[in-house]
Amino acid sequence: MNYGFIIDNRKCIGCHACSTACKGENEVPLGVYRTWVKYVETGIFPNNRRHFQVTRCNHCANPPCVRICPVTAMYQREDGIVDFDASICIGCKACMQACPYDAIYIDPDTDTAAKCHYCAHRTELGLEPACVVVCPEHAIVSGDMDDLGTEINRLLASQDVTVRKPEQGTAPKVFYIDGSDVALHPTAVERTPQTFMWADVIPLHAGDAGPERHRGDVNGQAHNGQTKLSKSGTPLRSPQPQGTPWQGPIQFGGTVAEHMVQVSYNAQHKIPWHWPVPAYLVTKGIGAGIFMILSLGLGLNWFAYDSLTVTGAGFLSLLFIALTTALLVLDLEKPERFFSIMIRPQWRSWLTRGAFILISFTVVAGIWWLVELGANLGILSDDLAAGLRPLALWLGLPLAIGVAIYTAYLFAQAEGRDLWQSPLLPIHLLIQSFIAGSGVILIALLFLPSAPHGLALVAWTAFVVALLLDLFVVLVGEFSIPHASEAAAKAAHEISHGHYKNYFWWGSIGLGHVVPLVLAVVATLLTMQPVIGAIAGLCAVIGLYLYEYAFVMAPQEIPNS
Ligand code: SF4
Repeated sequence: MNYGFIIDNRKCIGCHACSTACKGENEVPLGVYRTWVKYVETGIFPNNRRHFQVTRCNHCANPPCVRICPVTAMYQREDGIVDFDASICIGCKACMQACPYDAIYIDPDTDTAAKCHYCAHRTELGLEPACVVVCPEHAIVSGDMDDLGTEINRLLASQDVTVRKPEQGTAPKVFYIDGSDVALHPTAVERTPQTFMWADVIPLHAGDAGPERHRGDVNGQAHNGQTKLSKSGTPLRSPQPQGTPWQGPIQFGGTVAEHMVQVSYNAQHKIPWHWPVPAYLVTKGIGAGIFMILSLGLGLNWFAYDSLTVTGAGFLSLLFIALTTALLVLDLEKPERFFSIMIRPQWRSWLTRGAFILISFTVVAGIWWLVELGANLGILSDDLAAGLRPLALWLGLPLAIGVAIYTAYLFAQAEGRDLWQSPLLPIHLLIQSFIAGSGVILIALLFLPSAPHGLALVAWTAFVVALLLDLFVVLVGEFSIPHASEAAAKAAHEISHGHYKNYFWWGSIGLGHVVPLVLAVVATLLTMQPVIGAIAGLCAVIGLYLYEYAFVMAPQEIPNS
C-alpha cells in the first residue's frame, strides 16, 4: 500500500469545492486550511492565463515533520499516509518548521497541529477522500500507487508529472499533471498583497508597503520630490539600481511588466516561532557558557577556587537553564503536556534529545551546586565538596557543550527553513555561548568583590576571543559566502539588507560586537574594569538577542507555498 494523489491541472477549474468539502468533512475551523487552491495569473490581457494549484500535505515518503516531532504526534502509517494525533500533540510547532510546503497549521480550537490526513477515517472504510469525491471535474485522483490496477498508477505511468520542491528530498506524493512552475515555486512571484482577490492579507510588518519598498527611485527625482541639479543648474537623473530600467519596470497599457506573473489567491500562513525562541537561545547560551568557563577555569587551574564566587556563578548558570526550560514550556501551545516528551519520547527528534541533554545537565550541575552550597553553609564537609568538584565539573562540561549546540541540529531538522541548515551553526552556537557566558560573568563580577583576579582575566579573554571569532563566522561564514538555495539567500538578504538590517548591523554587529570590543580596549587603559566589563557584557548579551531574533524570524517569512 502506498497512497498518493494526482492533481490534474488540465481539468481543475479552481472552484474550491475540494477546499470546502475538506473543511466540512474534517471540521476545519475558519482561517486555517488542510487544502486550498492557489491562483497564479500570467500574461497581459488578452494573452493571459490563470493557473490553479490544489495545495496540501504531500504525504511525503520521507516526511521531515515526522522526524522532528518529539512525541510521535505526527506519524507515518504503513499505507503511506502521514497522519497526526491531536490527543498527544504538545503544540511545539516544530513540524510546521520542518514541513517545506506550509501544509501544517495550529488548530485554533484544539491548539494542536493539524493537516490533511488523506481522510484516513474514510480511506479505512474503502471510501475516497472527500476532496476526490466532490471534485466536479475529476481533477483529483487518489489511490494506491503500488497497485497496478488503480487509475493513479496508470496515470503515473502514462503522464508527465511534477511535484513541489523535489530538491528537498522529501519524496512528495502529490503529483501534478501540467503543473505550472510559477505556481509550484513559492518564491517565483513576489509577495503582492495588492493583487489578492477576496483575501485580506495581513502584512508581515507594520507599515509594510509590500514590493513598493524595494523599488528604486524610478522617475529620476530625489526622494524628497525635488529634482537634483548639477552645479551648472542642469537637472540630473539619479543613478538607478543595477538592472532596473529607467522609469521602473516595463509597462503595457498601465500594467506593470513585473506583474505579468502575480499570485491572485493563496492561503496565508502565520509565523510559528516568535520572541521566546531567540530568548531561549540566549538564556541557554548564558547557562552553558558560565558552566563551561567555570569547568575549564577550575579544572585547568586558570583561576583559584573561591567558594562564594563559584557558588554564585553556579547559581547563575542553573538560573539561566531554568529560564530556558520556562521559555521552552511557555512557547508550547499545550504547555500542560510538556512531560509527554519524557513519557513518550521520539528519539530521532532533536527536541527530545535536547530536552534530555538539558535535564542531564541540570541534574549534574544541580547536584554539584547543592554540595557546594552545603559546604558553604557548613552543612556538608569541605572535603566532600572538594572531592566531588572535579568530577562534576568535567562530567558537566560535555553536557554544557551539548546544551549550547544541540539547537543547531534541531534547526537542521527544520527543513522548511533553508537558512537554518548552515553547517556552521554548531560551532557558531558554541562561540555565542562563550560570549553570553563570559558577558554575564563580567556583569556578575560587579557584585562579587572577592572573586579571584584570574576569573576576571579568563572571562575577559574568553569574551574578546569569542567576539572576534563570532564576527568572523557571521560576516565571512554566514553572510558572505553564496547560499545553497534561493530561500536561504532571500532570508540572509532580509537580515543583512532587508527588514532586519537594523537588528543585524546596529544591534548585533554594532552594539553586540564593536562596542564591547572597544570597551575591552578601554578597560585595559583604565582602572574601572568591573564597571566597563559589566557594560560590555550587557551590550554583548543584548546584541546577541537582536541577532537571534533576526536569525529566527527572517527565514520564517520566506513563503513555502
Ligand atoms: Fe505533509 Fe509537510 Fe509532512 Fe510532507 S513534510 S508529510 S508535506 S506535513
